[in-house]
Amino acid sequence: MGDFNQTVVLDAIRRSPTGLSRVELATISGLSAQTLSNIARRLLEQELVIESGKVQNGRGKPRTVLALNPSARFAVGVHLDPAVITFVILDLSGRVVAHSTRRTPLTPDADVVIQEMGDAVAALLAEAGVDPERVLGVGVASPGPIDPVRGIVVDPPYLLGWDRVPLRESLSAATGFPVVLEKDVAATAVAEIWGSHSDSPENFIFVYLGTGVGMGLVYSGAVLRGTSQNAGEVGHIVVDPTGPDCFCGLRGCVAVTCMPRNLVEEAIRAGVHPEGVNRADPGAVEAAFLRLCAEARGGDAAAGAIIDRSARRIAKAVSVLTNALDVDRVIFGGPYWPALSEAYLDLVPRALRGLTVAPHTADIRVEGTAFGTDVGAVGAACTVFDKAISPDTRRLLLEH
Ligand SMILES: [Zn+2]
Repeated sequence: MGDFNQTVVLDAIRRSPTGLSRVELATISGLSAQTLSNIARRLLEQELVIESGKVQNGRGKPRTVLALNPSARFAVGVHLDPAVITFVILDLSGRVVAHSTRRTPLTPDADVVIQEMGDAVAALLAEAGVDPERVLGVGVASPGPIDPVRGIVVDPPYLLGWDRVPLRESLSAATGFPVVLEKDVAATAVAEIWGSHSDSPENFIFVYLGTGVGMGLVYSGAVLRGTSQNAGEVGHIVVDPTGPDCFCGLRGCVAVTCMPRNLVEEAIRAGVHPEGVNRADPGAVEAAFLRLCAEARGGDAAAGAIIDRSARRIAKAVSVLTNALDVDRVIFGGPYWPALSEAYLDLVPRALRGLTVAPHTADIRVEGTAFGTDVGAVGAACTVFDKAISPDTRRLLLEH
């Protein structure tokens, strides 16, 4: 979508709610008036921006304002969770123009799942009336581990049968669009950065509550992806030294105490739920888990105790990262956040207060994502825009 300078200018226009004049853009970007005039012409020709009226600043002739044309381009986001697949279409402003969800097919055949993803993307574009010519690509958020170089989903523990699946290539073939593969927790963090209206670079931890539990890290406004883009694996942080044995050799890890499957098992052991849940079926586990959450919200003391304990365990895992990185903001989200938000928003801040090592001037802020259960898919779509229209060094160039 144009050269680097054009990307810088488009990004500045995108971030401005009311648009910017050529003079303002020259100041922000440091580009000459002539270069800026050429870029503005190209952006107008490509219909990426529109002229939206004039502003009078002091004397001299009024300046024409350039504003983003949100429907010039779109990006598709897909979030693959072992229980549910979420699809969104974002316009260039980052607004969700359409969304849908499907149960993740209960089959070990990844090709079947990917073909269904392709069908769902085509159906959503048709339903939203989006011209495929205007779609820049598809971003897909997947459970890790991923191999970002080859575009492969390696062997996520809760996606049965997925072993070195070339998701990037296969989904590209199924949709006809280029595909960007991102780990799920990184995608959620990208969504929060895109949705942020803060001018200063942010530090926060995103806690993803889905079939698995993961954490996305944002430091100085950038997602920490790590050397192999698999950062965020918190499964073996010990949150309850008296908890059940973990397959890693420790006891009471997140991986055996905090995930929906663990809580369903606790409910069965405690006699809150009867036996008979097929633990290998993510849909059955989800149904039992959501029932447990509803019972807790409804005042069932035994169910409430299980959910409350999970909140304190999650807080313990979160505190390991907030203490290590000195982060003062935690954002929760993911498919199961709505079912847990009431208990977690009540208990996690209190628990964190007792676990924080550094004497913060203020408590750690704990909040839920504004994107709801779409957050992973929104972030995946944002990665497409990031690649197409965001200069990597934008903060360096725009914030001086
Ligand atoms: Zn473990």
